[in-house]
Amino acid sequence: MSTGTSINLKVEKTKNSKLSQIDFNNLPFGQTFSDHMFVCDYKDGKWQTPQIIPYQNISLDPAAKIFHYGQSVFEGMKAYKDDQDQIWLFRPLENQKRINISSERLAMPAFPKNYFMEGLETLLKIDKEWIPQTPGSSLYIRPFIFATGVGFHASPADEYKFIIACAPSGPYFSGNVKVLIEEKYSRSANGGVGFAKAGGNYAGQFYPTELAVKKGYHQVIWTDDNTHEYIEEAGAMNIFVRIGDTLITSPTSDRILDGVTRKSILDIAKDENIPVEVRKFTVTELVEASKNGTLKEMFGAGTAAVVSPISLFGHKGENYELPEIENSYASRFKKRITDIQYNRAEDKFGWRYLVK
Ligand SMILES: *Cc1c(COP(=O)(O)O)cnc(C)c1O
Repeated sequence: MSTGTSINLKVEKTKNSKLSQIDFNNLPFGQTFSDHMFVCDYKDGKWQTPQIIPYQNISLDPAAKIFHYGQSVFEGMKAYKDDQDQIWLFRPLENQKRINISSERLAMPAFPKNYFMEGLETLLKIDKEWIPQTPGSSLYIRPFIFATGVGFHASPADEYKFIIACAPSGPYFSGNVKVLIEEKYSRSANGGVGFAKAGGNYAGQFYPTELAVKKGYHQVIWTDDNTHEYIEEAGAMNIFVRIGDTLITSPTSDRILDGVTRKSILDIAKDENIPVEVRKFTVTELVEASKNGTLKEMFGAGTAAVVSPISLFGHKGENYELPEIENSYASRFKKRITDIQYNRAEDKFGWRYLVK
């Protein structure tokens, strides 16, 4: 069957839906997958006919370059369902653009915008019943591209696969996040791939994060690779601090991913007349602010948790606790953003995107 859309998308529906096996009131994050996936192959210098097929394993040659040279980039998005059963996305064109920015850095081909958007929207309509309606839940969407072309020669592959897979996911409770400010390892460097959503950026974080977990922390806060003085990122989230009433976050760079949640928070802060500073800031400044009582909040910002408040940070063997704040910036931003995402409030920024 063809949907007759402008990209000539082919659709093959599953005969064995797994929907009835899913407990929508007890969904872990990103562990169960919806019935279908969107797939498109790149070969002979162009993207081939895109398809929606039942979610299934894929078969690859052992010499596929993804295994050897790590050419792989991804995105993270969510679909939300409102109480009238309408499907919404949040700033999806930002993700569409960003996956191509990531791909370019890894010498991978750009994926056309109309393929991305039509593929995604058709998939969401087909797997509509997989979008949870329970409060705080959503369908986590994972678009990704990787090298399927073969060869042990260290050069870019000539074939790739683009996939969108979806995972119905429950509310993301991050709770009391304790972080360790990293003094030795780095996730990115000037001229590197830190700004790209490249799979390998995560692989490089796992070991230092495991060391931090052994010391009783949950996550690492990455500092600049040169001096380890400047606070940069939480690794899967951008990082904000509130000193006094001023909201501070680092400028994006080669080393820091340009998060959609981050830029949305900056716009909301301006809208709420919260003083904002986008500038570099140091661990020393944070420690001083903690000691003199002006450090009021610290939180991560990203699609999965929206905002993830930090309760404590460790640095050079000392732990610094964050106070508990009423009506925190973190809770205000989370409410503003999720109210827009679930179509519960006015969207003066034009961020909501209806899947029709
Ligand atoms: C995905 C990601 C973020 C958050 O980006 P969002 O667009 O807000 O989801 C932040 N940092 C890194 C390294 C990321 O991979």
